[in-house]
Amino acid sequence: MIDIQHLSKTFGTHEVLRDIDFSVNQGEVVTIIGSSGSGKSTLLRCINLLEKPSSGQIIYKGENILEDGHNVYEYRTKLGMVFQQFNLFNNHDVLSNCTVGQIKVLKRSVDEAEKIAIKYLNVVGMDNYINAKPSQLSGGQKQRVAIARALSMEPDVMLFDEPTSALDPEMVGEVLKVMKDLAKSGLTMLVVTHEMGFAKEVSDRVVFMDQGVIAEEGAPEEIFNNPVHDRTREFLKRII
Ligand code: ADP
Ligand code: MG
Repeated sequence: MIDIQHLSKTFGTHEVLRDIDFSVNQGEVVTIIGSSGSGKSTLLRCINLLEKPSSGQIIYKGENILEDGHNVYEYRTKLGMVFQQFNLFNNHDVLSNCTVGQIKVLKRSVDEAEKIAIKYLNVVGMDNYINAKPSQLSGGQKQRVAIARALSMEPDVMLFDEPTSALDPEMVGEVLKVMKDLAKSGLTMLVVTHEMGFAKEVSDRVVFMDQGVIAEEGAPEEIFNNPVHDRTREFLKRII
């Protein structure tokens, strides 16, 4: 579905991503693990073009989206993003958070947008909170609304950047549960996480990033039970 070739990203003189080759297939759940600063967020941000890659190619369904004249805007609507800090619109209620993008970007009618939003708020167990403001919600509830908001755009791929890292420990489980159910439903997902239990249980493939490169990738059993590289082993020893 998405095929990244020779992707590099430089900030000033700092090469944060170096010659990354990486792909996600339809229906696949890929987790990205690695130390802080290894480039995980930058990779996600390059994939959805929140950052412009310095070089390389992003092939989406066979089309090179970085080529001149390509409709980057439309491509971005195909990717849903969930951030560590939720990024909800605090002055909008829950329902409106989940409809505004549909109405403004996808040009759906208010009625249709609300119907779709409620469907996905139901999926994340937040359909009883449609009139609540984000300030009235717990962190876990906010993140579930953020997931529903992204799903309401009906993207082809969902990108998650440490979706549970800002949560109090007792709220991590409810968000992971929603993500596990989504994974089982066949959604294509790319998840940056420090939740190794989730990575082990849910992912089809685990990617270990280290200093701007993909140091190792493979099935969860391979990465967790039998890592090839010393740096993967050291990282796992530190985190588990
Ligand atoms: P991770 O998500 O794995 O913790 P990041 O992708 O956030 O890593 O960051 C990788 C490196 O890129 C870090 O050294 C970070 O300081 C640097 N970096 C990230 N974003 C920017 C930016 N906008 N400007 C300059 N440096 C950045
Ligand atoms: Mg990050």
